[in-house]
Amino acid sequence: MSTLAGKVAVVTGGAQGIGRAIVERMLDSGAAVAIWDRDGKLAEETASELIGRGRIEVFAVDVTDLAAVEGARDATLDTFERIDILVNNAGISGPNKPTWEYPAKDWNQVMAINLTGAFHCCRAVVPSMIERNYGRIVNVASVAGKEGNPMAAAYSAAKAAVIGMTKSIGKDVAGTGVLVNCVTPAPIDTPMVAGLSESHLQYMLSRVPLARLATPDEAATLVLYLASEAMSFSTGAAFDLSGGRLTY
Ligand code: NAD
Repeated sequence: MSTLAGKVAVVTGGAQGIGRAIVERMLDSGAAVAIWDRDGKLAEETASELIGRGRIEVFAVDVTDLAAVEGARDATLDTFERIDILVNNAGISGPNKPTWEYPAKDWNQVMAINLTGAFHCCRAVVPSMIERNYGRIVNVASVAGKEGNPMAAAYSAAKAAVIGMTKSIGKDVAGTGVLVNCVTPAPIDTPMVAGLSESHLQYMLSRVPLARLATPDEAATLVLYLASEAMSFSTGAAFDLSGGRLTY
């Protein structure tokens, strides 16, 4: 597998779920990792469990707060001197309700975390990557952003926007050494999925030809490749991780 020896990676939402699996794979591949998570206590617990596997630091930050993200960026640069890899993974699914019953405050929160949070982190980190002529950004979108899941208008819209933002930023930074891509997973076995209604989960699984949830490690494997130096000729692209569900 590709090596990240000597690289510094930021993983948002790295305290649990897919983010934690990504953190583990990155540490095992030789990267130093900064977890940016709003749940600082859980992130510290995760880091203490993983400390033997490499250099890991926690920065408690809510990605919806641009000033806090800039503070985490500055603290990470103070600690590690540079950021080579940014994985925008922090996200929430929000409630499963028809659009006309969907609470406006939940709509705003789903957008703020899944979309604006990823924008904040790109905005904060990209200049230092351009300065060093190197960077890999991986945004965690979803099949919902391509197909639109029922009862999930905010989540589907936010993830579609993450795909669009990925395509746009990929072009903004083309030629600078910074490559920006996203992944579009079908359901993965994490605490987020454990919180979904049984009917919503069954609907999503019924659409997956491989007929099972993905594991967090399967997601981390693709992210690891997209975060590596070996990945050198893709940018602004959406990579499938859907057990055969997506056909484009
Ligand atoms: P999870 O709920 O298990 O973990 C999410 C992590 O993000 C948590 O550690 C949480 O504290 C952190 N977080 C949430 N809001 C934050 C904020 N405002 N600022 C900083 N950190 C914050 O979720 P997961 O299932 O591991 O999902 C990770 C990503 O993968 C999300 O973007 C999600 O939309 C996406 N995704 C998940 C699935 C799935 O089936 N699990 C499928 C497709 C895409």
